[in-house]
Amino acid sequence: AKAQLFDKDNQKKVTFKDVAGLSEAKQEVEEIVSFLKNPDKYTELGGKIPKGALLVGPPGTGKTLLAKAVAGEADVPFFSLSGSDFVEMFVGVGASRVRDLFRQAKEKAPCIVFIDEIDAVGRARGKNVNMNSNDERENTLNQLLTEMDGFGSNSGVIILAATNRADILDKALLRAGRFDRQIHVELPDLNERKEIFGVHLRPIKIDDSVDTEFLARQTPGFSGADIANVCNEAALIAARNGKKFVQKEDFMNAVDRIVGGLEKRTKITT
Ligand code: ATP
Repeated sequence: AKAQLFDKDNQKKVTFKDVAGLSEAKQEVEEIVSFLKNPDKYTELGGKIPKGALLVGPPGTGKTLLAKAVAGEADVPFFSLSGSDFVEMFVGVGASRVRDLFRQAKEKAPCIVFIDEIDAVGRARGKNVNMNSNDERENTLNQLLTEMDGFGSNSGVIILAATNRADILDKALLRAGRFDRQIHVELPDLNERKEIFGVHLRPIKIDDSVDTEFLARQTPGFSGADIANVCNEAALIAARNGKKFVQKEDFMNAVDRIVGGLEKRTKITT
């Protein structure tokens, strides 16, 4: 997919209110919002604003959501690109896409550039048996490093990247002046799951049999994405049964269904 600029008028703005739990991660990214909003406050004293931060954590825990919320809170454009888009790309395409993304971003600064699944391009170099695709991936990675080094730290472009495997990343990416900050985004605990249910129940017509404490207790190990899924699935189950409101039993059925899916997922991956 092409690097995309989220049209602020057409795209629903994501803010910190949409991100439940993750209080430490939110606190850390609040500083980035402040850099984007009042860069002078930091640079007047001679400080250099960090160029980027790495969001690290399991799938579905809200890394993309948090990056969008940073852009939403600072009211700046959000450009995004996924590392997996670069896999199996023709020679030179990956690198030119990275160049293109940064050119656009510099024009629209202040802004956020978000690179999802950065491990797909940022894996440590020279460990792939398939030489051709590896060369191309390295070209893309080198271009990314060049771009990061090429723009000044006070250019107003902040790069957020997400991965669930920080340990396999090329050390060059983590060097000072690149992704030298890591923000950890973990699976939610009981209270955080309760909060996430709170967010995702907002648009759903529920009756008073439904309470977030109960739902949070039924869903250990669920990510925010799984919880969003449960809420949506419950609404669909209730509607299928011709109900006017979504009830506790619909949520329990939805949880069973999602647990089934999760079990399948673990079987495939392990
Ligand atoms: P991946 O690693 O798979 O890309 P991710 O960490 O980027 O996952 P998101 O894409 O941000 O996860 O999350 C998917 C969806 O799950 C979000 O759009 C949101 O609906 C829901 N979600 C995840 N985490 C949270 C959270 N902390 N609060 C509210 N909703 C959440």
